[in-house]
Amino acid sequence: MAILPIRTFPDPVLRKTSAEAEPGTGEIKQLAEDMLETMYAAPGVGLAAPQVGVNTNLIVVDARNALGNPDPHVLLNPIITASSDSVAFEEGCLSLPEFTLEVERSRVVQVAYQDLDGTEKNLLAEDLFAVALQHEIDHLHGRLLVDYASPVKRDMYRRKAKKMKAL
Ligand code: ZN
Repeated sequence: MAILPIRTFPDPVLRKTSAEAEPGTGEIKQLAEDMLETMYAAPGVGLAAPQVGVNTNLIVVDARNALGNPDPHVLLNPIITASSDSVAFEEGCLSLPEFTLEVERSRVVQVAYQDLDGTEKNLLAEDLFAVALQHEIDHLHGRLLVDYASPVKRDMYRRKAKKMKAL
């Protein structure tokens, strides 16, 4: 296992549309393991492959259960197949240091995906888990939290990010 470096805005790898993940390979299993370790070390509730420089449809999420026990999920080729009414959450992103934004997303989502062995699965998620899934699936389409901000706030962050990179 290894902690991978996290790519930050405006790295172009974060803007590409990711390709279909191929289940069952040693490579994808290793990547998923490393992404989980990277997410826990950060710490974060989710991580998408583009955030570690790989444009593959793979995300990991752990929104924890009510008791705070670890609850890791690894999803290949996730697609949202149903969604409910919306809820607003204050979100952050490991690729957008020092940026948070309140975003409205569906409170409940159903997601179809494959597990690491290629088995087709479905899950129903709500609240923080649902929000994290939608956030991570956005990454696979090159969409970032900052895109939901007003043009003014987006511009301010763009300048701030430039300054942070220059340090
Ligand atoms: Zn993110």
